[in-house]
Amino acid sequence: MKSFRKVLTFNTRGRREFINISADVEGALSESGITEGLCLVNAMHITASVFINDAESGLLQDFDDWLEELAPHEPVSGYRHNGAEDNGDAHLKRQVMGREVVVAITGGRLDFGPWEQIFYGEFDGRRPKRVLIKIIGE
Ligand code: ZN
Repeated sequence: MKSFRKVLTFNTRGRREFINISADVEGALSESGITEGLCLVNAMHITASVFINDAESGLLQDFDDWLEELAPHEPVSGYRHNGAEDNGDAHLKRQVMGREVVVAITGGRLDFGPWEQIFYGEFDGRRPKRVLIKIIGE
């Protein structure tokens, strides 16, 4: 069995942002030389997510609006977590959107369903944050 590890780094300009990382993951898969196996992609921070959904700008804005309704950033005093920090909302948003995805690798390709794309969801950006890609197989 082969194993491959790669870390991507993102530093978003805004506090919240969604980034399509499908091409980065496909690049890591080619680099790995693995053609059959599993690919794990996870956010390495507790205020960011990795998730799979449709690459459609309306939907991404809907996610952002929905998350902001569920856990508004302001007022920051509304969260017990905030004190030294102001990212109580970002922890909750990450929890809803998830930490990681696992994608099957078949014939050297990510074995996606229709319209599936991998996204990095940032909820407390403006600093370097990492995403781990781990691929195992043969
Ligand atoms: Zn925090």
